[in-house]
Amino acid sequence: MLDIKIEKTTHPKPKPADESKLGFGKIFTDHMFIAKYKDGAGWYDASIVPYGPIELDPSLMSLHYGQSIFEGLKAYRGVDDEIRLFRPEKNFARLNYSAERMCLPQIDEDFALKALKALVDLDQEWIPHAEGTSLYLRPFMFGTDQYVGVHPSSEVYFMIICSPVGAYYPTGLDPVKIIVEDKYVRAVKGGTGYIKTAANYAQSLKAQQEAEEKNYSQVLWLDGIEHKYIEEVGTMNIFFVFEDEIVTPALNGSILSGITRMSCVDMLKEWGLPVVERQISIDEVIEGSQNGRLKECFGSGTAAVISPVGELMIGENKLIFNDGKIGELSQRLYDELTGIQWGKVEDKLGWMIKI
Ligand SMILES: *Cc1c(COP(=O)(O)O)cnc(C)c1O
Repeated sequence: MLDIKIEKTTHPKPKPADESKLGFGKIFTDHMFIAKYKDGAGWYDASIVPYGPIELDPSLMSLHYGQSIFEGLKAYRGVDDEIRLFRPEKNFARLNYSAERMCLPQIDEDFALKALKALVDLDQEWIPHAEGTSLYLRPFMFGTDQYVGVHPSSEVYFMIICSPVGAYYPTGLDPVKIIVEDKYVRAVKGGTGYIKTAANYAQSLKAQQEAEEKNYSQVLWLDGIEHKYIEEVGTMNIFFVFEDEIVTPALNGSILSGITRMSCVDMLKEWGLPVVERQISIDEVIEGSQNGRLKECFGSGTAAVISPVGELMIGENKLIFNDGKIGELSQRLYDELTGIQWGKVEDKLGWMIKI
């Protein structure tokens, strides 16, 4: 395993004074991790250095052709003051899965976790203390060849940056309004929808912008061919709670395999509830809402953990779930998962890793 060289900053930045105003992803800690790769030589020069700009050539491969992937997870300061990560090994497994599709090199998952832990340990003072806050961790990898010909980059950077983030729900779980996208598509089978690559987001910005103009917080994507089956929300997977079953779309090759999604499925099974991963059409959702069989709808993702959907707009058809209020199961999952993350609830499934 590569050694990690540590160069500490001589100019530590002041930490944010008001933790209620942290927001998301705008402030960065004192250090970052960087490792380089070259075909033939493998990974080299792994180091933790002061956070700051890096010099890149204008012909940089990933700027022109988007050969870039990322991950997102959090470090939590527990109620017992222990620092914990939530299933980080799943993030590095997924990073390698994304790398394979994007012709980027594989990274040793144990090494990547060791680097992440070393960085969080060094910048641990940056993990905010207020309830619901955390340190968002962003590992990412991109091609750095200096050459504007289309080809897989032979040189690559892998980096990790950290950002203290505020409570997603400062005043309790807040149901969101979502609009079903009927013009644009996110992904098709054979494409890159199932991995975390920059391009998926670049092409989704337009739909997101149009949704916001209509006062919706995100879009719900349907399948790219028939516009009939449910895929996922912009940055979250989605669940529908029917009277007799809880349904989330099956991983079909165009849906991102969320770690929160996987954890919700595991938790629901643990509770003995009937959760199924299967194809689900938008018509089934409309029908379930009209005949009362569909009780709740919620999104799942690292940022919000659980995001109850209060309203779903489908063309001219407005569906309201649970009177626009938080459903019982959404609340229970949120309480259990965040309880485990902040060390308030026993971690029976062994998901947390202490720093
Ligand atoms: C990251 C992501 C999610 C959520 O995944 P988690 O691992 O639960 O954070 C869902 N959909 C898309 C498109 C994503 O990029």
